Amino acid sequence: MIDLHMHSTFSDGTMTPTELVERAKDNGVEVMAITDHDNIDGLREGNIVATKLGITFINGIEISANYKNKDIHILGYFINLEDKEFTNWLKKLGEKRYTRTLKILQKLEKVGIKISIDEVKEEVRGNVIGRPHIAKIIIKKGYAFTMNEVFDRYLGDGKVAYIPKIGVDMVEVVERLKSNGAVISLAHPHLISHTDDTVVNIINILVEVGLDGLELYYPSINIKKKNRYLKIMKKKKLLLTGGSDFHGLNRAGVDIGLGDISVEVYKKMLVRKIENNAINSK
Ligand code: AMP
Ligand code: ZN
Ligand code: FE
Ligand code: FE
Repeated sequence: MIDLHMHSTFSDGTMTPTELVERAKDNGVEVMAITDHDNIDGLREGNIVATKLGITFINGIEISANYKNKDIHILGYFINLEDKEFTNWLKKLGEKRYTRTLKILQKLEKVGIKISIDEVKEEVRGNVIGRPHIAKIIIKKGYAFTMNEVFDRYLGDGKVAYIPKIGVDMVEVVERLKSNGAVISLAHPHLISHTDDTVVNIINILVEVGLDGLELYYPSINIKKKNRYLKIMKKKKLLLTGGSDFHGLNRAGVDIGLGDISVEVYKKMLVRKIENNAINSK
């Protein structure tokens, strides 16, 4: 059984990479990927512990991108950690998140919620600030009780303190991942807050620049949507990928290994990786 989507304390998860691997082991996972938002800082630690425990570890990442002012998540697998051009670019993504955070804090102040940037920095390990970090402080300060409430009232798409990711073009994300040598999958297409037709459009655009797969094994996807995307996947000769999107205590009801995804999914990704390499070296 495999799980190719989860977050550590290096983004908005509540468990360290070591704890994620140990939990994966307990849950019977054979192949796992840690896919933190916009950074690879937890991967070396994860890899070392996974090797000790006999789990196959894939270097993963989930990069946030924009399309028509909305968020899109793109997964990269088999990331080459030595690629300096790629890691320098990731640093810039961290800086963009920082600027966005300042804007979110300004908007929150306008509705009477005062949070300083230093308070946010204390919540975050590494340099990737996400909305859940800000949400936690809002809860701590007593402005709301739950994460869902914070997103519904303040931080969610279109809400009073919502600022979309700043200027990370989805095509550039795929191109950067491609030149790193990663196998690329569109994360949870059913959660993209555009119409279905726009999502199909997004898939078409990204396939042109090297998208390899769609994440269609995912806890919350319904059969109807899944079947629609499965058809597109087959037509475009894309891979099927999947995972739990475990965030620890930040997302209730989800555990590592949820979905019981077959190891065959991983084998097909490996084949794709080899095919991509062959095309690149031509
Ligand atoms: P960001 O990367 O800063 O845009 O934050 C995105 C993250 O916020 C997602 O990966 C989720 O973990 C979290 N998130 C988004 N919407 C919600 C929601 N409605 N309730 C709880 N968490 C959410
Ligand atoms: Zn997240
Ligand atoms: Fe995501
Ligand atoms: Fe995720």
